[in-house]
Amino acid sequence: MNIKIEPRKPTDRGGYICMPLKKNVPEGHADWKPAKCPVCGRECWTDPAREFLVRTQGAFPLCTECALNGKARQEKECKAFLNACVKYVLISVLWMVLERIIYGKVQPRIVDDIIGLILFWYIFKSEL
Ligand SMILES: [Zn+2]
Repeated sequence: MNIKIEPRKPTDRGGYICMPLKKNVPEGHADWKPAKCPVCGRECWTDPAREFLVRTQGAFPLCTECALNGKARQEKECKAFLNACVKYVLISVLWMVLERIIYGKVQPRIVDDIIGLILFWYIFKSEL
């Protein structure tokens, strides 16, 4: 897996920002506040600058270890896949119900399967 580490730009959106772990930095700075990593639950530090980036750029705060080992990305992709599966199944059931109401029976067709796969891909990408 590739991880790109670079200074944030004002135009950046999303991405991860690192929070120092308390085990690495036991004494926080004056304006730091205790926080928990949303992935592993370990105690970290956050500060007003990080909170500003979360609010304005949609950055996702993680402890340094989760940000660097890719665990957060794997978890995010797994959740996105599961959410996409649930949405795809709901859309498929709705599709079949509508076919039954409109045509009187469910009509399995290759074209529906192909469009369904394309639809699934877009649902998955929107969940990431
Ligand atoms: Zn963590």
